[in-house]
Amino acid sequence: MSNNPWQRALSQLQKTLELTDTHPDLHHRLKEPDNVVEVNVPVTMDSGETKTFRGYRVQHNNMRGPYKGGLRFHPQVDLDEAKALAFWMTMKNAVIGVPFGGGKGGIEVDPKELSGGELERLTRNFARELAHVIGPEKDVPAPDVGSTAQMMHWIADEYSKHVGEDAPAVVTGKPVEHGGSEGRTEATGYGGGYALEAILVKLGKETGTVAIQGFGNVGLYFAHYAASRGFKIVALSDSKGGIYAPEGIDVSAAETYKKGTGTLLGCAGTDISNEEILALPVDILVPAALENAITKENASHVQAKVILELANGPTTIEADDVLKERGIVVIPDILANAGGVAVSYFEWEQNRAGERWAKDDVLARLKEKMEMAAAKVWNESIEKNITLRDAAYVVALRSLGEVKQG
Ligand code: NAD
Repeated sequence: MSNNPWQRALSQLQKTLELTDTHPDLHHRLKEPDNVVEVNVPVTMDSGETKTFRGYRVQHNNMRGPYKGGLRFHPQVDLDEAKALAFWMTMKNAVIGVPFGGGKGGIEVDPKELSGGELERLTRNFARELAHVIGPEKDVPAPDVGSTAQMMHWIADEYSKHVGEDAPAVVTGKPVEHGGSEGRTEATGYGGGYALEAILVKLGKETGTVAIQGFGNVGLYFAHYAASRGFKIVALSDSKGGIYAPEGIDVSAAETYKKGTGTLLGCAGTDISNEEILALPVDILVPAALENAITKENASHVQAKVILELANGPTTIEADDVLKERGIVVIPDILANAGGVAVSYFEWEQNRAGERWAKDDVLARLKEKMEMAAAKVWNESIEKNITLRDAAYVVALRSLGEVKQG
């Protein structure tokens, strides 16, 4: 089986269809994205030369509402990856119960290599290229790996110029002062924490030691939440490598250290690699970086009892089989990291109603949504004696099937 994310998405779809009684038409609708938009984005660099970047927007499905999903700014963005990520958004939005379909996009660029001005011109030009296919009722992008709240504001600004009126609901994940929601920045990490606690209760487990691969938006806020709830964070890593300190890591100190030095290396305990972090003797392993982190090769070395997939697609299909055989519980991405899109939905609602909700209110609503979704997925897995991943897809497909029949 290839690790091509789109092939994995299709094989998961096929597997889920065999577990449900959904209509074959639904399979046909879901096995290809509705639309794929590819654009070339020219940008005047600071040097005066013009460079062209390749961008995508995949609109997978809108049966439950406007296409919804992030824009990734990364050197390895490609179309099959974007198709898979868009498919996962369709499924995730159905599991968490927000009235959105699935979309995803991105641009092939290493944002760290661009100046602030170049990044702004690139983002604004990308927004202009996409302006005819996005919109508050059509397709609502959000941040993802390599993109930020500020970039979402630039997109909303360009789109508003395009339609001739203020249209903040065209994107979510904006800065709070530009129509963003309180709590959106923390939402995916905190939401993962709420889902983890809900599943641990079902498993009869409590807190434990945690290793987190990926210390960006998602990994950082998950670490803060987990630490505040009594979990012991013993390992952290980012693209440059990580640290392991069995006595526990002070998350705020690690955050400050990384801000100052650009790395986690040398911050506490022992330096480790991104491969080593996956095999540590911990209770909970949290992949929060990129796809295909847990593979057939390293799955047999995982010592954690529970894996919380905060990244999208961090476990290959073969690795999933190994983990299942070894009795390791995987809380699947389409449940675990749905907190981001849940609060994106709250942001979209606030923009459309002209409201501003307090952070406590947003987080309370998020917790409720995550716990409801976790309970649904758990119950399905017990009823059918299937993994939480298969159960999450069954819940999603059933929800999509209901729309089709209605
Ligand atoms: P980010 O860009 O803020 O952070 C990514 C982190 O991963 C960085 O710390 C980076 O150094 C690290 N990283 C990159 N390559 C790595 C590697 N090979 N090994 C270890 N670490 C590596 O991105 P993010 O928003 O935190 O997203 C992380 C994951 O969560 C992605 O899979 C994304 O699709 C998913 N996700 C994000 C959101 C959201 O709201 N931001 C929502 C749902 C899912």
